[in-house]
Amino acid sequence: MTARKLDGVATAAAIRSELLPRIDAFKAAAGRVPALHILLVGDDPASQVYVRNKEKAGRDTGLTVVIHRLAATASRDEVLAQVRELNDDPGCDGILVQSPLPHALGKTVEQLVFDSIDPAKDVDCFHPENVGKLVQGRAVLAPCTPSGVIELLQRQQVPLAGQRAVVIGRSEIVGKPMALLLLQRDATVTVCHSKTADLAARAREADVLVAAIGRPAFVTRDFVKPGATVVDVGINPLKTREAVVSIFGAESARVTTFDTKGSAMVGDVHPEVAEVAGALTPVPGGVGPLTIAMLLRNTLVAAEARQGRP
Ligand code: NDP
Repeated sequence: MTARKLDGVATAAAIRSELLPRIDAFKAAAGRVPALHILLVGDDPASQVYVRNKEKAGRDTGLTVVIHRLAATASRDEVLAQVRELNDDPGCDGILVQSPLPHALGKTVEQLVFDSIDPAKDVDCFHPENVGKLVQGRAVLAPCTPSGVIELLQRQQVPLAGQRAVVIGRSEIVGKPMALLLLQRDATVTVCHSKTADLAARAREADVLVAAIGRPAFVTRDFVKPGATVVDVGINPLKTREAVVSIFGAESARVTTFDTKGSAMVGDVHPEVAEVAGALTPVPGGVGPLTIAMLLRNTLVAAEARQGRP
């Protein structure tokens, strides 16, 4: 079997094009365009790329995107002051603080910063008030990556109600909210993590398996029930040619990518899973574009809600 490809690029494009008339309607009513403000602290190369991609996608969709940059040496108070300024800015609808923040700021700073964002502008849905609403099934803003996965599964007619769903990973950003959103769609959900016993056997129970682990090609064919739908959230850079060859094979186009660019990407799911799964998200081109599309949708939803529009 070769798994059906769950195309995140096409689905993200469809979601973004559905936003256009709503953005026009907002503009007509409010006299301005919804605005996403991104705070980037430091010079982490991956974060720079992520922010650039979000900025381009937002502008291409007709939103205002403003990037606020602070040096890696910025203090905690400077970061918090910037967030406060955005909270108070009536023209700012969505605030995203790009993670990770520089290590020098300390371990607890991310939580502190996320907690300081106005919940009405919290387009990443990290604020405890928004997380609480998510748990209670009355979220206005839902976290971008898991809600993107749900959009993809629903639009690709993957059944969820009554199905066994297994999520590997229990992070606040992906695993936990993913499990909640699947539960809200009536799946029977198991959440696995690094202490789960007999992980492959648990994963093999899944009709829908979501891998959000952060380990290259970790989910191999023995984790997957034949015909299952597999969603690969992982984004893992491979830094050596040997690693690329050992996962994709010497003849793979991914080796050529590595030779050209000096790096290549793999998800949490091994490519061999395509021979067992019924449907599979590619990496790249799967969950990543959906995360961005949902960020733009959240910005519009936040803007509409702040204007008192449904
Ligand atoms: P975290 O590191 O925060 O969480 C990883 C989770 O995986 C933890 O719950 C951890 O368990 C679990 N885990 C780690 N090792 C194992 C193991 N050997 N067996 C079972 N479980 C394990 O990562 P994130 O959730 O933030 O991200 C996961 C992946 O998704 C990353 O590759 C990240 O880059 C990617 N990502 C992709 C996005 C996209 O748009 N496509 C968006 C966000 C993330 P425990 O809790 O026990 O430690």
